[in-house]
Amino acid sequence: MSDFPVFDGHNDLILRLLRGDVTAEEVASGLDDGHIDKPRAQKGGFGGGMFAIFVPSPDDKAMRHDEMRNPPYDIALPSEVSEAEATKWTLRGFDAMEDLAAAGAIRICRSAQEIEDALPAEEMAAVIHIEGAEAVDRDFDKLNAWHARGLRSLGPVWSRDTIWGYGVPFRYPSNPDTGPGLTDSGKALIRECNRLKIMVDLSHLNGKGFDDVALITDAPLVATHSNAWSVCPHSRNLTDRQLTMIRESDGMVGINFASAFLRPDGRMDSEFGLDIVLRHFDHLVDSLGEDRIGLGSDFDGALVPDPIGDCAGLPNLLTALRSHGVDDGLMAKITHGNWLRVLRKTWGE
Ligand code: ZN
Repeated sequence: MSDFPVFDGHNDLILRLLRGDVTAEEVASGLDDGHIDKPRAQKGGFGGGMFAIFVPSPDDKAMRHDEMRNPPYDIALPSEVSEAEATKWTLRGFDAMEDLAAAGAIRICRSAQEIEDALPAEEMAAVIHIEGAEAVDRDFDKLNAWHARGLRSLGPVWSRDTIWGYGVPFRYPSNPDTGPGLTDSGKALIRECNRLKIMVDLSHLNGKGFDDVALITDAPLVATHSNAWSVCPHSRNLTDRQLTMIRESDGMVGINFASAFLRPDGRMDSEFGLDIVLRHFDHLVDSLGEDRIGLGSDFDGALVPDPIGDCAGLPNLLTALRSHGVDDGLMAKITHGNWLRVLRKTWGE
């Protein structure tokens, strides 16, 4: 593993297992497609990250890549998912995480110290994240049980609406102020996450939902996989006002590699250079400072720039950052140090 192992804010590898496209053993031995497997992680210095358990809608065929090819766009969100259906998928998601651990592909981490210990290891350090909380019940019994099973991070909504709140759509150009924010139940969910010390991910909330979390939470504000709206005016990206709030809370942002959230023209098209990633990097460092920026690749959930390609291509990004003037100290912060700092602060360990 390199001197600068990457701990990353978001990936969707688990969805590939839940859809039956790959097995845990194949992730451990190597895959022909997708963005993450153990051999490529070792090659690229991908030390691990937050692994999302995401529940697709029954009518959702695939990711919205094609529809985002031709801006402007406003993608229709798939239908809502019932708690029962979401619970089935989420339980399978926990099983898939445990299968990956048993296959030697990942090591499930519940504290910042466990991540730090796992980063130099062969297995990827993996934090369990739930993206969209349809499976959580209003009494939080399942949330408590899943926390005990290792859950450490949660997004109250993925972009479709839930009982907890209204998500941000995939719309370009658009600012994130797209509708109402959290419901009263959603506000109670944030308080319960605070109590359990589960990190709350702001990435799929709209502007109002973001403000609602900021008012309630006692933890740093974190967007695990989002970019700078002033560089790419996509509804999923963060405005300067939001970045100021993240800075003031001492939270952080993980840079998302999704082409449509990086390119100033909002196109989901992977043919472009890393100079565009550097523009987001510069704006985020200017707005947040050097201690509040990391990576949030969205590997296996997004169309990533050709010069990165998959997790084995991360050294290309590190080389670009290096030529951009990033020294060893800042490189260590971007690749993993800032995530460790913010997670330690959020989790208290
Ligand atoms: Zn996402």
